[in-house]
Amino acid sequence: MPQQVVHRRFTLTQSFSALGLSAELTRVVAEQGYTEPTPVQAQAIPLILEGRDVLAGAQTGTGKTAGFTLPLLQRLATMPARAGATAQPRQRVRALILTPTRELAAQIEESVRTYGKYMSLKTTLIYGGVNINPQIDALRRGVDILVATPGRLLDHLQQKTVELSNVEILVLDEADRMLDMGFIRDIRRVLALLPAKRQNLLFSATFSEEIRKLADGLLHNPAMVEVARRNAESELVAQRVHPVDSWCKRDLLVHLVSSGDWQQVLVFTRMKSGANRLSEYLCKAGIEATAIHGNKSQPARTRALAGFKNGTVRVLVATDIAARGLDIEELPHVVNFELPNVPEDYVHRIGRTGRAGSSGEALSLVCAEERPLLAAIEKLLTRRIEKQVVEGFEPGTTPAPAVTTPAPRGSHDGNRRGAGPGHDGRARAPAKAPAKAATPPTRPGAPSSPARANTSAAHNPPRAPQRPRADGGAATAALFRGPARRGS
Ligand code: AMP
Repeated sequence: MPQQVVHRRFTLTQSFSALGLSAELTRVVAEQGYTEPTPVQAQAIPLILEGRDVLAGAQTGTGKTAGFTLPLLQRLATMPARAGATAQPRQRVRALILTPTRELAAQIEESVRTYGKYMSLKTTLIYGGVNINPQIDALRRGVDILVATPGRLLDHLQQKTVELSNVEILVLDEADRMLDMGFIRDIRRVLALLPAKRQNLLFSATFSEEIRKLADGLLHNPAMVEVARRNAESELVAQRVHPVDSWCKRDLLVHLVSSGDWQQVLVFTRMKSGANRLSEYLCKAGIEATAIHGNKSQPARTRALAGFKNGTVRVLVATDIAARGLDIEELPHVVNFELPNVPEDYVHRIGRTGRAGSSGEALSLVCAEERPLLAAIEKLLTRRIEKQVVEGFEPGTTPAPAVTTPAPRGSHDGNRRGAGPGHDGRARAPAKAPAKAATPPTRPGAPSSPARANTSAAHNPPRAPQRPRADGGAATAALFRGPARRGS
């Protein structure tokens, strides 16, 4: 693939109009409060306006959405539509934006509407999990810009409620995530239905071999836009690891949120079930929390996100896929309740904070079993993350709780002894319970009536330091001293 790496100079005085954007668009960006283009915008906008295919390495939080949406709007407004585009309204689609998740699709569509508000282009959003009929009605009325997730778009194509024969611009947003989520075949089926002559824009946070293969087949003489190294965003973010026993994580989170008086915290868990249980636990501790994940209906996810944005929900507990691309501005705190299996996901997670120039804090609660995951993340970042033990939550000082009931299959909330994540992310079988379960005093901020009786010890571990046990606690204590002993 012949590629030209474009390094345009980006200075603080550069304006949106200097990039070639029209008065309607510069007016709207000024209304948004954007005083200057971000680096990805400064590079990508002129190239897209020229009609070039672009391969851009940019993550959420870099301003990439405006980076492709603004020039896309301008090109549609200034280029005559293909002759066929006026034949039938459902054949009118002139730009197709494909993106992996519903939330991301909804955010992009909102951006398209916002940026295009002084133009007369029509936009529609298509994603699964909701009634298809209103989407069919919207397509029947005619749409210029279609923002879609791949699966539901294919449903429409099969039902012939949309046609893509007049598409002039294709955007694949978060292409790496689309491949991770197994959309490659769907994408290829969609590509086969597009006219050969069109402009292609591919945005991806990472460039695996698979992405390069996709780009090779898709892009014609592309300009490559590279805004920053993969982990550049993390430089705006203060990162810290709190070593802690897995069964103390929930109370540590309650303690951090309460003592820091945090008002808006995004917490990541690895499993949907863990997200639900953690949000329930926080609510019982008097901290307004809600979970967002793929098992929730779209209205429930939208409600959760709205509550978080307007401040009625203090803690949003999310899985990686649900959180991907959430546009929450200036989020001050991100907590990794559990580390992700894939190190790149750590970078995506902490990208929710320290965005668009504001600084943020990303904390990771790390138990002994997660040590290999932490090592992989530090290798990716090419540096160590500061470790800080929180007083009262020292690893190895609190006995693991008795577990009388096995954890549900595949579930993990990081609080059951022996249920900590393994390398493969699967739940472990509960370890043998200690002979006697402690009846401990409550930690600061912990709920007084635990949600489930069988985890009561996990909810109320003793505060007094105890002799380290030959289990995950001791291993966590050794986490940053030297080779850890594996938890049982
Ligand atoms: P994105 O990477 O597209 O998800 O954008 C991240 C956030 O940056 C969004 O909340 C945008 O509203 C904001 N944003 C985009 N462009 C600019 C800009 N030029 N100046 C300030 N904020 C921006």
